[in-house]
Amino acid sequence: MAAPWRGVIAEYADRLPFEPEEHAITLLEGGTPLIEAPALSEATGAEVYVKVEGANPTGSFKDRGMTTAISKVVSNGSQAVVCASTGNTSASAAAYAARAGLRCIVALPVGKIAAGKLAQAIVHGAELVQVDGNFDDCLRLARALAHAYPVSLVNSVNPYRLQGQKTAAFEIVDALGCAPDIHALPVGNAGNISAYWMGYSEYAGMTTAASLDHPSARRGAVVSTRPRMWGFQAEGAAPFVKDAVVENPETIATAIRIGNPASWAYATAARDDSGGLIDAVSDADILDAQALLASEVGVFVEPASAASVAGVLKKARAGQVPSGALIVCTVTGNGLKDTATALGERELDPTTVPAELEPAAALLGLA
Ligand SMILES: *Cc1c(COP(=O)(O)O)cnc(C)c1O
Repeated sequence: MAAPWRGVIAEYADRLPFEPEEHAITLLEGGTPLIEAPALSEATGAEVYVKVEGANPTGSFKDRGMTTAISKVVSNGSQAVVCASTGNTSASAAAYAARAGLRCIVALPVGKIAAGKLAQAIVHGAELVQVDGNFDDCLRLARALAHAYPVSLVNSVNPYRLQGQKTAAFEIVDALGCAPDIHALPVGNAGNISAYWMGYSEYAGMTTAASLDHPSARRGAVVSTRPRMWGFQAEGAAPFVKDAVVENPETIATAIRIGNPASWAYATAARDDSGGLIDAVSDADILDAQALLASEVGVFVEPASAASVAGVLKKARAGQVPSGALIVCTVTGNGLKDTATALGERELDPTTVPAELEPAAALLGLA
């Protein structure tokens, strides 16, 4: 039997800025499935895989960065953490803070959080404040609180977040035996695209702006190539595409409803140094991709997650996906977090039959 997965800090200790004596706060995050997606391969003429980050302990990739960030908070002796969140950061911070016995303060934008994510923060015991503003306002407040008071900021501007999140790139290379040609993912605050680029680069024996700013333990190269990074934003929240801050971002994909990304410089470097792109997809395309993932790939993701797949499908329609390319799409979060958006107008009222063979078979068209 293969050794059980030990969480990202233990699995990638030699590539993370942790000392052996530092205690890891872990929920055994990472080690998520990389699944072939024949329906997407067929639609694009490429070979497409999805990296299912909704399989993490709190249902999103945020756990990879939260194990590293919260572990550092604990080794630095801080007693409280704060974050701004569109939902998944708070769900993850609340769980890891609970595990570590820390106070967790969460600043949420008024009325824009999916119900499942809000429930997670509450059950894990976080202290919630609703901010009269959007995510960008929440992040400004969280930064100010961490600056003025003894609470540690665990948003992705905390460099240990990106350190943890880069492990997803390691896992993909470990699973495929090579780097993909293209890596597609949704872009909101732009930490994740920066983290993946750092991970792929470190496995290729190279550095990035992020890894130079915050040096981590590194070994030699595992592979010789890096993918092109393809980032996708929602049309109503696409500051990279417009090359300007978006004052009032709007999209059904609440996890990427961000107008002023914190990791702006790292993300543009990832795009440009990889020969990649950051484009926008419509909410309609995001919902179509979410439905396709659920009905044909068998993976239920939240709307923001489907932006990666919507983007690759858009590029395929434009003839811009190289034939036979090896493509990995990160699907960032679990569909169960936001069932309301996924169900839309659909009827939740199945026909009632008696518990008897013949009427049931007749209703199902089997008889
Ligand atoms: C946080 C999040 C994103 C956006 O990631 P960034 O690092 O902010 O670009 C996308 N999808 C989901 C589900 C998320 O939770």
